[in-house]
Amino acid sequence: MFQFMTSTRIVFGEGALHDSLSLFNQFGYSVLLVTGQDQHRSLPLEHYFKQQNMRYQRLVIKGEPLIAMMEELAAMGRTFGPDMVIGIGGGSVLDVAKSLAALIPNQGSVYDYVDVVGRNVPLQVKSLPFIAIPTTAGTGAEVSKSAVLQSAQEQVKVNLSNVELFPDLAIIDPTLTYGMDMVLSGYCGMDAFTHLMEAYVCGEPNPLTDMICEEGLRRIAVSILPACKEDHYSSRSDMAFAAMLGGMARSNAKLGAAHGLASALSGRLNAPHGLITARLSPYVMSENITVATELGRSDVLARYRKLAVILTMNNDANIEDSVQWVDSMLTKLQLPLLSDYGLCNTMFEDVAEDALRTNAIKGNPLPLNQQRLVTILEQVCSCYCNS
Ligand SMILES: [Zn+2]
Repeated sequence: MFQFMTSTRIVFGEGALHDSLSLFNQFGYSVLLVTGQDQHRSLPLEHYFKQQNMRYQRLVIKGEPLIAMMEELAAMGRTFGPDMVIGIGGGSVLDVAKSLAALIPNQGSVYDYVDVVGRNVPLQVKSLPFIAIPTTAGTGAEVSKSAVLQSAQEQVKVNLSNVELFPDLAIIDPTLTYGMDMVLSGYCGMDAFTHLMEAYVCGEPNPLTDMICEEGLRRIAVSILPACKEDHYSSRSDMAFAAMLGGMARSNAKLGAAHGLASALSGRLNAPHGLITARLSPYVMSENITVATELGRSDVLARYRKLAVILTMNNDANIEDSVQWVDSMLTKLQLPLLSDYGLCNTMFEDVAEDALRTNAIKGNPLPLNQQRLVTILEQVCSCYCNS
């Protein structure tokens, strides 16, 4: 038995934003519009609101979504009283907008509803209608039920997660990702890869997430380089599609040690989430293959081998070719090293201990103990010293 949930309505394609503006009207007349600092992309929305005599307030998000900031924004949102929340931007913007849609109608503090440092109680009142419009191809937040927030005091990332948080409408217009910088689109794309890869090999996949992961991985294998390096338009569409599939996969299967370690590291390193997961991936894959070999887990090894076939587009690929594929992408996309962000100065034992407490690590295909996680971190750092 399995179940599958995603956003209520998805509109995908070049020009989707322009063609979908009238869909906003079904949710009411008053809009809380959450954007990044680049005003340019939200101009068609603002123009539409004015033309339709809709009431709107624009919130501009800078940097990471801190819990203290969310308390203030939710209070502002309650005063404004929107019928719907629309988020247009990258992962952080969508996470803020999604959280506000949930927090505005619910009284109390953000800490009541988040995990790790909060009480993690279910939302008392239904979320406001939420429309997600991604401008990067990475997190898949437009089709996921969770938002990541940062606690400044505890220096950890926490999740606000609930089936109520699936967007009511996701508008995925790949033209919004055209012209994006190579390194930024590289680590967003590799984060989408890590969602698909971890969901594909995780301990609890299902037939539908398998299908989704295989298609997403296939598209990334073909398109990540032309999309990020040459801004090739149909490859950009493939990446937007793959990122959406990654969001569906991680909401309906599980993740693994790359995401577990990334959430333990996120409060310690001032590095983008996608860069952390991308740089950890080859070492996590390699360690999982080693442990699966030791334990004779042919089922896990078969998944890694299939992964290698999909990524290299070679039916005779060896299991290790999957790891090499990831390594070569990281080099070709010129992604920065985690040592540049201070990874090698962190206390590996503490990071591993925190990682073992995350939800993500529970999805890892095989249990990795603290020492195995420390080994992964050591390998990431020893590789940098030699390079
Ligand atoms: Zn991720």
